[in-house]
Amino acid sequence: MKDATRVIRAGLPPVSQGESFLRGPTFAGPYHLSGDPSGSTYHYGRFHNPTWTAYEQAITELESGSATVVYSSGMAAVAAILGVTLKAGDILVMPSDAYYTARMLANGFFATLGVEVRMAPVAGNAQRAHLQGAKLLWLESPSNPGLDVCDIALLAEAGHAAGALVVVDNTTATCLGQQPLALGADFSISSDTKATTGHSDLILGHVSVGDNSWVDQLRAWRTQMGSVPGPMEVWLAHRSLATLELRLDRQCKNALAVAEFLAFRTEVQGLRYPGLASDPAYPIASGQMKFFGPVVSFALAQHGLAEKFLQSCELVFEATSFGSVHTTAERRARWGGDKVPEGFIRLSVGCEDAEDLIADLEQALDKAHSKG
Ligand code: PLP
Repeated sequence: MKDATRVIRAGLPPVSQGESFLRGPTFAGPYHLSGDPSGSTYHYGRFHNPTWTAYEQAITELESGSATVVYSSGMAAVAAILGVTLKAGDILVMPSDAYYTARMLANGFFATLGVEVRMAPVAGNAQRAHLQGAKLLWLESPSNPGLDVCDIALLAEAGHAAGALVVVDNTTATCLGQQPLALGADFSISSDTKATTGHSDLILGHVSVGDNSWVDQLRAWRTQMGSVPGPMEVWLAHRSLATLELRLDRQCKNALAVAEFLAFRTEVQGLRYPGLASDPAYPIASGQMKFFGPVVSFALAQHGLAEKFLQSCELVFEATSFGSVHTTAERRARWGGDKVPEGFIRLSVGCEDAEDLIADLEQALDKAHSKG
């Protein structure tokens, strides 16, 4: 079956007379449980919930994995993998340009615990040179916000040869854009807050695995840390999956059109989009990605120009997230933490009409660079 069909059906229960296709969310703290609990799947809402089960089933199908554990956020999913795989004395190899908060967690909490954290850039598969003795190789491709790409299959093989487990943060691409488990990773992690659910209305994350050896620990981590998602969020996420292919198809076509437009503007510096044939990431990205993602990045010459550009956009929400049906953008350096120029803009292209978007970006670029 093709992706557009798979997303409509993913995780739905068998049809049942008089029942909805996707069952509504189950709101439960305790479930009724009398006597011996061993025969009952559901006993307390921090352990399990049928709405999670259905979403996990859907994501497992779409990730081509063997199991999935849903968490309250992408960061809860990141923490779960680090938490179950690493102990004091272990070595973690992480991109120096990985998502900022993931790096903070590794370099803060886990380094303090006694984990050695080695950092190298995503570009040029530079992490490969740091694998000796590693326990966990963390990949992020395309990286947020720089949009560099590494060769996942090559690094997964190198990681395994060095005795490491391999995880890919697949947030920017989503499970339809790229299949980390099929490329050889042990774990695929995603912030489902972003394009996977894509409506700017929830926070969620998941970890999918290719074999079940880590599933019990990943579930136990969620239960013991309490990083449990609300059933309403999970149900909304499952509902949103049905349009994942439609949304990505439109977003990625729009993103490419926007990148092609920006490529001809002389004020635009350092333009990156992995789907642009002239982008340095394209040769690897085109071999491992089905969709190149909704995010385009570029810089204007100064802080003030970037701010004026963002203020002049009428169809772009200024916001610090990406992957939504709404086009969003931000001047990333406003937070610190990423090695990007002051005028660097991360633009996440939504599902609006491409001509409208390009016209808006054009007038905003003109306004930002006008003398008035
Ligand atoms: N991984 C990446 C690549 C991200 O961009 C983000 C959030 O921006 C996360 C993980 C964390 O996700 P969440 O915000 O859902 O906790």
